[in-house]
This record gives sequence, structure tokens and C-alpha cells, in this order.
Amino acid sequence: MPAAVVWDSALLGYDLGGEHPLNPIRLELTVRLAAALGVLDGVELLVPESASEEEIQRVHDAGYIAAVREAPMAGWDVGHGLGTPDNPIFEQMHEASAMVVGSSLVAAGQIASGATKRAVSIAGGLHHAMRDRAAGFCVYNDTAVAISWLLDNGFERIAYLDTDVHHGDGVQAAFYDDPRVLTISLHQNPLTLFPGTGFADETGGPNAQGTSVNIPLPPLTDDRGWLRAFHAVVPSLLEAFQPQLLVSQCGVDTHDEDPLASLSLSVDGHRRIYQNVRDLAERFAGGRWLAAGGGGYQLIRVVPRSWTHLLATLLDRDLDPGVTLPHEWTGLIDRIAPNAELPTAMGDGRDTDHDPWDGTVEHPVDVAVRDARRAVFPLHGLDPDDPRD
Ligand SMILES: [Zn+2]
Repeated sequence: MPAAVVWDSALLGYDLGGEHPLNPIRLELTVRLAAALGVLDGVELLVPESASEEEIQRVHDAGYIAAVREAPMAGWDVGHGLGTPDNPIFEQMHEASAMVVGSSLVAAGQIASGATKRAVSIAGGLHHAMRDRAAGFCVYNDTAVAISWLLDNGFERIAYLDTDVHHGDGVQAAFYDDPRVLTISLHQNPLTLFPGTGFADETGGPNAQGTSVNIPLPPLTDDRGWLRAFHAVVPSLLEAFQPQLLVSQCGVDTHDEDPLASLSLSVDGHRRIYQNVRDLAERFAGGRWLAAGGGGYQLIRVVPRSWTHLLATLLDRDLDPGVTLPHEWTGLIDRIAPNAELPTAMGDGRDTDHDPWDGTVEHPVDVAVRDARRAVFPLHGLDPDDPRD
């Protein structure tokens, strides 16, 4: 198998409850759709174990972990961003969050051991969690823990690519002054969206200038604009940085039907992103690619299709966007959400071909391209104004 897939229903325990937008059913519906389409045929799903306190402490303070542990029993405000509408306290909060970290660690371990070059932790990608606090639906930063572990297990140069609609602030913060980790985040302009960071001038700490890259995109950016910005910035930096491994956070809240944000990508665009990331991993990271999930709040119409494409891409079983949704899966949706209007196919019928950036400022995303390139390209020996770089 070209990729290891980590999945167990225990990961559904990361459930913020009530009407919270991060409903774990999106993960179950993804796995069910992928299975119904044959994407997972012959794939042995790897079952994670909870991450230990020691592993979680790679990126989180002991006092914060203690607060997460005691929060469900505490009759007082435990602080640390816990008990807010975004980060409500739930039963087994520590255990469920540690399981998500364990999922990403299993994926990392598969790559570090050489068992596989690609691995996916679909429940991971909780990129907003900070050293001492929960944020943006994220309790523990599984991806940052996995990167930290990989740095101690054979990897010296890791590129992290965050394509969620929100800035990957927690992962950026964890490695802001670490020259071994290049973080690149494409996201909706932080003036218009949580968490309010991710501007082009956030370029890394004094020991790691140029290893934090931010591409804030204007609201309503579509597949073509997104891919134009991506290709204008990302491949050159990866070629210059020469990572041994590419870690990607694959949030799909960039979709135009997502209820929490305002970009206008399609499932076809998501599929194209995954194929591009796979190609970049092959070209610049020795084929090594660790993928995590992330945001995505159109639980039925978008997330299952997009992440089924992610699984298919990792497994080299690419699905055509015209593939129809299998009855086995649509029947399941009819039972659990009879009023849901389902798409008929695995794509949204969008054309994702884009015009490459040519060094000018013509398209709405070009300002972000220019600013991101000017902020970091010279630090990598690249010419920010020359589209050949
Ligand atoms: Zn997000």
C-alpha cells in the first residue's frame, strides 16, 4: 500500500457536543463513503493508542494538560481557553484529545520507521491549539506534537503546509523560531476571519527568519485563484528548503458551502490540492507525506467527499469527479439526515484550471502573492518579483 491510514471509531470521542460545528460524524461519513467506493479495499486501518502525557508535553505545558484533565470534574473556571463556546468542556476531554494526538503519532511513526512513505491521520489537524490554551475547537495540537516527535526521530527539515481556511497559528507558534520547520499557511485574510493572525509579515523568529510563510487570501477566492497563489509561492519555497518530509493540514472549510468562512473553493479544487501536494512531496520531500484532517463544517455535502478524495490521492486510487455517489452511502444519509440535499457526484462540476501568476498584480489574489513572496523569498535566495523563481 502506498499509504498508511490511521482510523478507529474511538476517534469519534472527540465530540464537543450539542450544536458545536465540529461534529465527528463528518469523519465517520468520510470513512463510510471511502469504503463504499472501494478506496479502502485491502487497506488495513491502523488503530491509534492515546498519546502519553510526556508526548503531549512536547508542545503543551504540564499545567494546561492538568487543566484539561480536571476540567470535566471542576466546578470552577479552569481557564486556558476551556469552557468557552468554541472550546466547551466535555466528558473524557483529555482522553479523547490524547487519542487524536496518538493518531497523528502513529502516522508519523509509520513514516519514520520506513514502513511507508505516506500516512494519514484524518482525525488530526487540530492546528489552533496553543502551548497553554485551547483555541478554535482544538485542545491538543496533534500535528505539532507529531512534527516535534519526527524532529527527534530522524528528520531535520520538515515542511508543514496548511490549506485550511483558517491560519495555522498553533503550528506556526510551536516552530516560529525553529529553522528546522518551514510552515506555510494559505488562508482567508485574517482581517476577516478567526484567528486574526497569518499576515505576510509573520516570517519567523530571529533564528528562523523566512521559515514562517503566510498567504492571506481575499474572501470569495475560488479554486483558480487559490491554485494560482499556491503555485506562485509554495513550490519554489519547497525546492529551496529541501524538506525530508511534507506534513499537510487538509482542512476543507475553504469550500464555498462552508458555514464558518467565506472562500469559494469546490470539492474539485480540494481534489486538485491533494494531487498537487502529493506531486510536491514526490518532487521535493523524497515522496514522504504525512496528511492530517482539519476544519470542515459542511458535514454531509462537503467533508466526506473531499476527504474521500484525500484518502484516494494518498493511496494512488484517484477518483474521477464524475463518479456517482454510491447507494450504500446515500441510503445511510437518507436514514440519518432525511432532509439533506445530496450532490450526485464526487465533484462539484467546477473547472479548476488556473492561469499561472506572471509577476504582475491583476488577479485579486496577486497582492497576497506579491506580499508573501517579498516577505520571505529573499531569505531563501529567491527573487520575489521573478515568476520563474
Ligand atoms: Zn479551519
